[in-house]
Amino acid sequence: MATIGFIGLGNMGGPMACNLVKGGHQVTAFDLSDTALDAVVSAGAKKAASARDAVQGAEMVISMLPAGQHVEALYLGEDGLLSALNAGTLVIDSSTIAPETSRKVGAAAEQRGLAFLDAPVSGGVGGAKAGALTFICGGTDAAFERAKPVLEAMGKNIFHAGESGAGQVAKVCNNMLLAILMSGTCEALALGVKNGLDPAVLSEIMRQSSGGNWALNVYNPWPGVMDNVPAGNDYQGGFLVDLMTKDLGLAFDNAVTNKAAIPMGALARNLFQLHSQQGHGRLDFSSIQNFYRGTDAD
Ligand code: NAD
Repeated sequence: MATIGFIGLGNMGGPMACNLVKGGHQVTAFDLSDTALDAVVSAGAKKAASARDAVQGAEMVISMLPAGQHVEALYLGEDGLLSALNAGTLVIDSSTIAPETSRKVGAAAEQRGLAFLDAPVSGGVGGAKAGALTFICGGTDAAFERAKPVLEAMGKNIFHAGESGAGQVAKVCNNMLLAILMSGTCEALALGVKNGLDPAVLSEIMRQSSGGNWALNVYNPWPGVMDNVPAGNDYQGGFLVDLMTKDLGLAFDNAVTNKAAIPMGALARNLFQLHSQQGHGRLDFSSIQNFYRGTDAD
């Protein structure tokens, strides 16, 4: 069992840290929010007074922070954590951030004799609570093999995508595709319904035909077609439009840096950005269905 310092106990990090405790690991936790910290402490983690305090004597550090600037500040900033860790400590950052930022933190960690793994996740808050996340890792084979048994306490599928930053690249590619296929699915459903088709019948036809995809299989965006999905609950819960917009921004920036053409991804980014600006940022991303339905949804 590992001694782990866990930083960032929000919607994702909180349940992830609780699952580590359940798995028998010794977790010392820190979050800027007392409410978030107390929830994890009441599940059995040790309370730290600061991030530095949380990583004292830790064999591993796991961070789950909102964005790249938080990760950079935590590890590289003035009084950054990298200078507080014992040589050989494994640092796992599960935040979704730009691959370049991840590589920068990873290189600085390695220079100090630390091991670093980028390990962003897929599976959302439900997956975090159920210990069923997918981890998409980038780093050395040795770092991956060391992290795997610990990640297994929080996830079901643990992938090694490649070298440092590769986890973030794969995560960005996946979420860009998810945004594109969800928008396309909503567009097709709205067209069919405009023509008088029943959305459930059309969904089943497309699901069994060449348009079949993940949204039609498990996350139908049309209200009433499928049970236990955000569409059936006014698009509450699930994966927020604002988080999808953030991930599409990472895809866009990465494409600019690498001179890659992403016309579909750029379109999806604009679509979700507009949807957020129209006041729907806190809804599940499948609510992009309402963008296509327009006034029909009222
Ligand atoms: P969140 O905003 O709920 O939680 C982030 C937590 O980090 C907050 O509790 C905040 O207080 C804390 N924090 C920020 N700066 C800190 C610091 N310097 N020290 C200590 N604590 C600090 O965010 P979330 O939904 O848990 O997402 C975390 C990451 O996971 C993001 O990068 C997000 O893109 C990614 N992600 C989220 C989901 C999802 O469905 N929510 C799914 C996949 C990936």
